[in-house]
Amino acid sequence: MDFLPVYIDIKGQRCLVVGGGEIAARKASLLVKAGGEIDVVAKQVSSAMASIVAAAKGCQLHQRGYQQSDLQGAKIVIAATNDEEVNRQVSEEAKALSIPVNVVDNPGLCSFILPAIIDRSPIVVAVSSGGQSPVLARLIRAKLETSIPASYGRLAKLVGAVRDKVKARFDTVNQRREFWEGVLTGPVAEYVFAGKDEDAQKMLEAQLNDPNLEPRATGEVYLVGAGPGDPDLLTFRALRLMQQADVVLYDRLVSPQVLDLVRRDAERIYVGKARDDHAVPQDQINQYLVDLALQGRRVCRLKGGDPFIFGRGGEEIDKLAEHNIDFQVVPGITAASGCSTYAGIPLTHRDYSQSVRFVTGHLKNGTSDLDWEMLAKGSQTVVFYMGLVGLPHICSSLIAHGQSPEMPIALIQQGTTANQKVLIGTLATMPEIVKANPVVPPTLIIVGEVVTLHEKLQWFKPESG
Ligand code: SAH
Repeated sequence: MDFLPVYIDIKGQRCLVVGGGEIAARKASLLVKAGGEIDVVAKQVSSAMASIVAAAKGCQLHQRGYQQSDLQGAKIVIAATNDEEVNRQVSEEAKALSIPVNVVDNPGLCSFILPAIIDRSPIVVAVSSGGQSPVLARLIRAKLETSIPASYGRLAKLVGAVRDKVKARFDTVNQRREFWEGVLTGPVAEYVFAGKDEDAQKMLEAQLNDPNLEPRATGEVYLVGAGPGDPDLLTFRALRLMQQADVVLYDRLVSPQVLDLVRRDAERIYVGKARDDHAVPQDQINQYLVDLALQGRRVCRLKGGDPFIFGRGGEEIDKLAEHNIDFQVVPGITAASGCSTYAGIPLTHRDYSQSVRFVTGHLKNGTSDLDWEMLAKGSQTVVFYMGLVGLPHICSSLIAHGQSPEMPIALIQQGTTANQKVLIGTLATMPEIVKANPVVPPTLIIVGEVVTLHEKLQWFKPESG
């Protein structure tokens, strides 16, 4: 190990920053975050530095060159000027006085270095490459950022507040450790992650009063939006819950790449529905969720796109609420958003479209009872979900209600995936285009002037598309 990792308390302490540029400002803001009172010595001061000094209490700006007496009383020193000689001088003089000194981008002159940090205060994770490769340290930090929920900070505060009580309650270190492990990996932590801090507090206190308390007899359900296909479009929360669940119920719209990210040993249950082949009826899925949760299992109900947009997510949690089963809902990127973005078709645009509508194109008995008059109006974008079978009906109905036969329309097959394909036409031509170019579901239909932007803005070009 080249450096000893330590965390220094600089609250209310004098810290010296030599230099006034952007980099110096970043360091200064870090010191301020940790409660330091900084003196900035710099001939020139960037606007970023000026605003930090103006906003933070106890900070002072000395607009002049560095002098040795600046070191007096400083707890730590950071040199970030673009004059190597000045940086060297600060380093040598600080070292002579045994004041920890950091010189940016010059590990040789440093007696301490600043790590890349993940701040979930009071939890702070520091990553250092010992000055060998700050970029690598930052990449590692980015990986950790995604796997440490933002709510860990709140969790740490919650348990920190009862630390003394726990010490008094349990005699041995082992007992305490066991208690904490139960709290931090069990329902108390999960309540915090779900934003139910009050429930977490109650559960923590109940467990403190009775450590043999059965944590929770029933499981819970995570209704998770899996996005349109590309696994990169999952949210951090979706991924975390997918890796935590004991059992996963998924349907046809969930891409294999997304399913791959589920915990290895979780049970997977397919409840997919093809259009005319209702593999598992909705009622049965709802009942499944209830039964599994009542067995005490953590159930992840993975749904394509967003669970609350044509996803019947509302019906599923309705049943859970009836049975008093805990649930969380995680939004996902809905097909309209994912497909339009990956096809280079902005859903709204100042020149073409001031509103957007998400509509189901699903036909009942070969027809639909949509408000065609409204959908045929101008200056809007209309997105049809489940519209492939009804495409000729959609095009002819829009035209019959006054929309121009020349109105542009896009059909996007398997948007955001390696199989994405985009067909462009007009209301008059699209049915024929689809006949000549067979597509594979799922497909999304976008109607509106914005479709013309595809030609210029398309950026996602998978090989097979
Ligand atoms: N809850 C989902 C929609 C479910 S309805 C969401 O928010 O996206 C199913 C319809 O979604 C499909 O018929 C299709 O129109 C659309 N869809 C879902 N994923 C798609 C994708 N990757 N590409 C194109 N259309 C998609």
